Amino acid sequence: MLQDSCFGRIVYGLVVDKRSFGYVVFTLQRACYGSLGRVCRNARVSHLLGFRRSFRSHTTRISIFRLEPPPFILIDMTRTGIGFDAHRLVAGRRLMIGGVEIPHERGLLGHSDADVLAHAVMDALLGAIADGDIGQHFPPSDPCWKDADSIALLRQVTARVHSQGWQVSNVDATVLAESPRLAPHIPRMRERMAEAIGVTPAQVSVKATTTEGLGAVGRREGISAMAVATVTKAVAR
Ligand SMILES: [Zn+2]
Repeated sequence: MLQDSCFGRIVYGLVVDKRSFGYVVFTLQRACYGSLGRVCRNARVSHLLGFRRSFRSHTTRISIFRLEPPPFILIDMTRTGIGFDAHRLVAGRRLMIGGVEIPHERGLLGHSDADVLAHAVMDALLGAIADGDIGQHFPPSDPCWKDADSIALLRQVTARVHSQGWQVSNVDATVLAESPRLAPHIPRMRERMAEAIGVTPAQVSVKATTTEGLGAVGRREGISAMAVATVTKAVAR
């Protein structure tokens, strides 16, 4: 039963009036008294704040309750992004991976410091919030990004993530390199990237593998990296 009355709107035999701070429900008939819980659900109100007063007219018992407005239910929304990057190994460049300089006879070629791991992580983060890619935000054509510190860029990407209400939940990445051996440097990579992302190292996983001599990475022509990132946001429903 749903109809308008002089009291307001009748829902299943009750009148819901929004004139006061909360909701006031008038039961029009005794028979409807027990259906208050159903009315609360249908009227999208949470629960009775308290019984206020009750009286009886010649045919109808009228009870007045004050109800809370519908509460917001916070639900964690989760998004995942993927990132991939590859850079050529050349002589005369520093080898920066995950914000760590690694002793090696060659380094990665690129407009910035060519930190292949930080770049893959940035793209994963941007992908998670559907906000383009690092080429869009830090175009190689712009001289201001020449030899840029990729950890500083990672901080900027994290600021974009936060500005849109997201929190980074975790990052997982794999570096593909035939050489040098990266395992000893992984703890420091996790620390540096975690600091830039504003999370703990436990939330940043870095793994390294070879490609068993296969492909460009296997021929030591370059190093590549892939990453996934998960972000969460509490939304009201
Ligand atoms: Zn790159």
